[in-house]
Amino acid sequence: MEITRIAVLGAGTMGRGIAHVAAFAGYDTLLYDVDAGALARAEESIHKNLDKGVALGKFEAVDADAARERLALDTDLAAAVEEADLVIEAAPESMALKIELFGNVALFAPPHALFASNTSSLSVTELAGASGRPERFAGMHFFNPVHLMRLLEVVRALETDASTIATMTEVGRRMGKECVVVRDVPGFATSRINALIGNEAFRMLEQGVASAEDIDKALKLGLNHPMGPFEMVDLVGLDVRLGVLDYLHRTLGETFRPSNLLRQYVQAGRLGRKSGKGVYEYDAQGKRLEREEGAS
Ligand code: NAD
Repeated sequence: MEITRIAVLGAGTMGRGIAHVAAFAGYDTLLYDVDAGALARAEESIHKNLDKGVALGKFEAVDADAARERLALDTDLAAAVEEADLVIEAAPESMALKIELFGNVALFAPPHALFASNTSSLSVTELAGASGRPERFAGMHFFNPVHLMRLLEVVRALETDASTIATMTEVGRRMGKECVVVRDVPGFATSRINALIGNEAFRMLEQGVASAEDIDKALKLGLNHPMGPFEMVDLVGLDVRLGVLDYLHRTLGETFRPSNLLRQYVQAGRLGRKSGKGVYEYDAQGKRLEREEGAS
């Protein structure tokens, strides 16, 4: 199936990145959010990242300009999806919210349109069932920051057609991603392991095993992880991570019970880079401040 127009729902950390790679890959891209402010921030960050790519010599200014021209923003869901061939949802990690959103999308999107969710952990099969088009529904699980990370997990739900998987894999390739196809199991291949490491890091911080900085350093220098677990969770969003762990705890058991400290940080509004403070603190430009916020 030929995809020319992609609608991306949710302009947060992930949605803006997905819109960036979609527009850059040559797709007419509509980015939708309920919050006009989120759309404005998304546009600014996409433009900044495109400028950075040009400055680093990764691509020509003319390619960045073409991507900018292919990107439109909308707070009207019907207008955003009515001509879409593919709708990629990147709204908050809540089953109820996503089901309601796909219910509304189904009212306005053309019958041929494929639907994908960027959920990190929720059941794609359940979302597919609720969407009314389970054979044209799958997961497209991108990684943060989307314009730099190379992997795309394409998640096959119980009733997903082979042609849907083939089309989404081809879209991923055109966006410059390496694709792996995984069965719909909680946490897929990546989130399951990542959530476990991140949760254990919070437990260690809570127990005073070491400072956050030293735990990050240990994993980077001793285990060759490119980022420490706290640097990673500040990027992912502590609220997003907690939502994933709550779900994995319910579906896969005690191993995934979220750490109390992580829950408290979220309750305190420490959501990571996006709120200026997570495990670490950041200035208005997103630069990490020296003083470390530990467990005490
Ligand atoms: P985020 O909180 O940064 O952004 C969510 C956006 O959705 C916000 O701009 C919000 O205004 C908008 N929104 C709220 N209600 C909406 C609605 N009804 N319709 C459309 N938009 C709505 O979240 P995020 O980190 O971008 O995560 C989005 C999804 O991507 C989640 O399912 C998450 O699990 C998944 N995911 C996140 C990461 C990550 O590293 N952050 C990685 C892979 C997948």
